[in-house]
Amino acid sequence: MWYNNGMKHDLYIGVDVGGTKIAAALVKDNGKIVRRKKIPSPANSGPKEVISAISGIAEELIADEGVKKRSIKGAGIGIPGIVDEHGTVVASPNISLSGVNICKEIKENLSIPVLAANDVNLGILGEKYFGVAKGYKDVIGIFIGTGLGAGVLIKDKLLLGSHGAASEIGHMIIDPNGPKCSCGNRGCLEAHVGRWAIERDIRIQLRKGRNSVLNALLSPGRRVIKSKMLARALRAKDPLVTGVMKKAACITGDACVSLRHIFDPRLIVLGGGVIEACGNFMLPFIRNRLAKDRFFSKLSKCKIAVSQLGDNATILGAVAFCRKG
Ligand SMILES: [Zn+2]
Repeated sequence: MWYNNGMKHDLYIGVDVGGTKIAAALVKDNGKIVRRKKIPSPANSGPKEVISAISGIAEELIADEGVKKRSIKGAGIGIPGIVDEHGTVVASPNISLSGVNICKEIKENLSIPVLAANDVNLGILGEKYFGVAKGYKDVIGIFIGTGLGAGVLIKDKLLLGSHGAASEIGHMIIDPNGPKCSCGNRGCLEAHVGRWAIERDIRIQLRKGRNSVLNALLSPGRRVIKSKMLARALRAKDPLVTGVMKKAACITGDACVSLRHIFDPRLIVLGGGVIEACGNFMLPFIRNRLAKDRFFSKLSKCKIAVSQLGDNATILGAVAFCRKG
C-alpha cells in the first residue's frame, strides 16, 4: 500500500518493451502514472542484457520515487512478440528474448510478481480499463504503425489462442497475389496498410517520376517517410499521398467489416503512429466502408474510435493485466 495525499493506493509497474526503446512507469491502481522512464533497447545484444535493462528500469523507478518494494503489487510486461501462458517468449523478431521465460527471470531480479503478454494485446486492454474502450466488453484494437498490430477482447477477456499467438490481424492474407509481407507471407493486411507498405507504394510512384510535395521533404539521405510527413502531404492535398492513403484507409475499412463479421465487436479502436498522424483523413473512409456493410446493416452500429492512451496504452494495459491477476 502506498499513501499519497492521505489516499491509499496499490502501485504497479508497467513496462513496454520495444525494438528501439523500453518505456516503463510506476502506476497507481487507478491508472494514474506516478513516474515514467524511457531507455534505448540494448542493441545487438542477447537476452541477458535485455532482461537486465528491463529489471534496471523498474528498479530505477522504485528508487527514484522512494517507495518501498513491498508497496508494489506486481509488474506487467508488454513484449513485441508471442508470449505463452507460462510467461515464455515463443518468438520476438525485433528483440532478443525468444525462448526466455521473461516472468521468471524478472521476478527473480525484482522479487515481485511478474506477468507478461503481447504488447498490442496489452494495449487494447489498457484502452478497455483506462482509455476510450471503457465500459465495452467486446472490442477490437487495430494499431497501425510501421507494421500492424491488433488485439481482440471478447466478453472482457483477451483472445490469446492456443499459443498466445491469436489476433495477428495484420497478417491475415487479403490478396494471395499481393505484395510480400514482413512475416514472409504474401498479401497480408500489413503489406497493404502498414507504414512501410504505404512508403513502398509512394516510392514506386516517385521512382516513376510522379511529382509530390514529399520530394521537397525527403532529403537525399532520408530513408524513412514518417507518419508526420504523410500528414503534412495530406494537409497540402498532395495527389500522390492522398491517393495512396485513401487506398490504405479503404482497405483498413474493408478489414474492419470482415473483422466485425467474425467477432461482432461493439467498438473498434484504431491507434498507432499512422492513425495518430493521419486519422482525421482516414477515419471517414473507414467509417464509410462499415456503413455500407449490407450483411450487418440491421444490427446496432459498431463504433470506431481513436486510441486515447497513445504511447501509454501498453504500459497501462500491463498494469490492468497484473491488477486482474
Ligand atoms: Zn504478414
